[in-house]
Amino acid sequence: MKNEATLYDVLNHLPDGVIMLDERGVLLFANEAFTELIGHESSLLVGLNILSLLANVDVFHACIQQVTREGRSIDAETDFLHRDGSIVRTVKSVRMIRNDQDVRFFVNIRNLTETNLLNKELRRSKELIEYQAQELSTLLNSKNQELEEILGSIDEIIWYIDTKSFALRYVNNAVEMIFGFNRDAFLSDSDLWQQRIHPDDRALVRTFFETLVPGLSQEIRFRIHHSNQELRWLSSRIHHHPKLNLYIGITRDITEHKTQSDEITFLAYYDPLTMLPNRAKLKLQLESRIEHSAGTPFALLLLDLDNFKNINDTMGHEVGDQILIEVSRRLLLAKEEHDFCARFGGDEFVLLLQNADPIEIGHFCTRLTEHFKNPFTVNDISFYLSHSIGITFYPQDAFIGEDLIKHADTAMYEAKSKGRNQFVYYHTSMQRAIHNFLHIESLVRDGLTHHLFELYFQPLINSKVLELEGFEALLRLPHPTEGFVPPDTFISVAETNGDILSIGDEVLKQACDFIEILRPLRSKPFFVAINISAKQLHQEHFSRELLDYLHQRSIPTSFLKIELTESAVMENIEIASAQLAQLKAGGIRIALDDFGTGYSSFAYLAQLPIDTLKIDKSFILTLFEIDSHRHIVEAMSNLAHVLGMSVTAEGVETLKHFDFLIHRQVDTLQGYHLCRPLPKTEILRLIKAEAPYFTSSGL
Ligand code: C2E
Ligand code: CA
Ligand code: CA
Repeated sequence: MKNEATLYDVLNHLPDGVIMLDERGVLLFANEAFTELIGHESSLLVGLNILSLLANVDVFHACIQQVTREGRSIDAETDFLHRDGSIVRTVKSVRMIRNDQDVRFFVNIRNLTETNLLNKELRRSKELIEYQAQELSTLLNSKNQELEEILGSIDEIIWYIDTKSFALRYVNNAVEMIFGFNRDAFLSDSDLWQQRIHPDDRALVRTFFETLVPGLSQEIRFRIHHSNQELRWLSSRIHHHPKLNLYIGITRDITEHKTQSDEITFLAYYDPLTMLPNRAKLKLQLESRIEHSAGTPFALLLLDLDNFKNINDTMGHEVGDQILIEVSRRLLLAKEEHDFCARFGGDEFVLLLQNADPIEIGHFCTRLTEHFKNPFTVNDISFYLSHSIGITFYPQDAFIGEDLIKHADTAMYEAKSKGRNQFVYYHTSMQRAIHNFLHIESLVRDGLTHHLFELYFQPLINSKVLELEGFEALLRLPHPTEGFVPPDTFISVAETNGDILSIGDEVLKQACDFIEILRPLRSKPFFVAINISAKQLHQEHFSRELLDYLHQRSIPTSFLKIELTESAVMENIEIASAQLAQLKAGGIRIALDDFGTGYSSFAYLAQLPIDTLKIDKSFILTLFEIDSHRHIVEAMSNLAHVLGMSVTAEGVETLKHFDFLIHRQVDTLQGYHLCRPLPKTEILRLIKAEAPYFTSSGL
């Protein structure tokens, strides 16, 4: 009991109106904010049916039905009738609470303040109408000859109909302007006025008449079709005159006011920057499309600008805003008339396309990319923007809007990972990606259980003396049915599912086996470099265990080198630097692999105990195609030397590469031009045959 009292207390102090209804719509509770909102006293409200307080019964009915059907809370706009007859525009959210046997509806009502300012305006004009209505009744009573003339000069429609037949008995000239038919047309066809009412509003109008209290006047708003088929909003103040058996009314055109209140709706549902519908509007649009689709498919595209944050951060928000405006303009240009385009948030846009043919959508995305190719110019500075698009289809991919967006988001992220200006279909491509992943995963598992993994070794050649320095260990998965699975593919799968840890152990074991075989054959030092993934590096005891393992096998640490990519290091720089320090202290050398492809700051990396910089092969392979690459290679090499690191170039495929690199102080060379990665037995054979590079005096 005590709890209940406190709860009501709290509810009473909420700024929002709160009411509780039973399943018939009878008010069980109304808080103070609500009573204030509609001008009635709480004690009078309890026990009333909510329907008597509503300006539009149908909307509320529909809302309650939806809540009952779907069980979730629903938001909708509702017009309540104020005690003074005015309309109070609100947004309400209805929640259903089901006890053992009782159903209760909890309704939260928020006053749309701006709209109510507008209503004040309406109220004022209504007062005027009321005044005129009084005048009218005086005139009617006096049955003055001047009556017709005076009524004819009023802008509002003045009329009366029979309470039983609803037949129009009288109407003034103003009807012509508002309905577009002349007065005689209405008088000769006494049902015409009803036919012009918008079909969706007819029931509302009829109920209004049926519930009109004799002797009182009330207001109703509804839509009609003008003779030119234009939709108009009318407001009628109607008086039931029981003695005369007449409904007497004054009707005025409020289309303009309605437009104004539509402007307020605009603010709630549109993005003021781009003028596109916002996320709330998108939600409504999706709901209504799905509700009325009858299963007709449509496509949802989620478009995200690439690197927009950079522009915002470096050029300022004003420039960012201008670009967003231009983006929305280009989107509107690209879409078809009935397609829907919303700004979803920040730099994300959503398009709903009627045409749900995946191939057509593909063409659409390509066209969009074309539209984006022209630079975006703000303050005479040109920006080139790319985007990533995720695509989902209703109903194939999801039945509800939220899920469609979620899936589009997933697909969009995949698009991002593929590079710039990419689009990805959720369903098919995700399915394919998942299918591929599972397939590769099963091959990796086969590899681990049946010991299929085999290390190959690619020689690393000292560029000054052209002698073997060491090897890079590169893993192969020769599968009995699938052939050689490319390492790039299986490594990334194994990194995702964690199998990389077992693979890493296998690699270390085989690398050590190789070192053990080679050690007696060679008096000069050499090393085997193994590739280490981020997952391995970030294992808490990675360095300790590696050092212990070498110790256990009595292999000096100088025989092992590890290769790490910039991104593996940057993933968690604290952990990485601690591990590296420990490895370094233990005597293991460290190479930074694929250098130049990451985004990390070199100054940062320079503080780590790195021995060698491996210039990524993409620079070497295109040394003579891309001029800048020759400068970059030279600069990277100089920089590394200044910092006391040695430099390795991988991907030395041709004699030309080789010639260029040996004259640029690159210390170590690796590539097909020198030797491909080979199995252990092949390497041993080359050594025995004293093949070039393997024939140093040390061997
Ligand atoms: P990576 O570490 O950058 O290895 C160098 C890759 O370049 C190897 O590809 C090698 O075969 C290839 N390569 C060598 N010389 C040339 C050349 O002249 N031209 C061209 N076009 N390519 C050359 P591979 O063996 O396919 O390995 C691909 C990637 O897979 C490696 O790139 C590495 O990231 C990963 N990987 C391979 N083995 C292991 C491993 O044992 N553990 C881990 N974590 N990753 C590995
Ligand atoms: Ca490597
Ligand atoms: Ca590499």
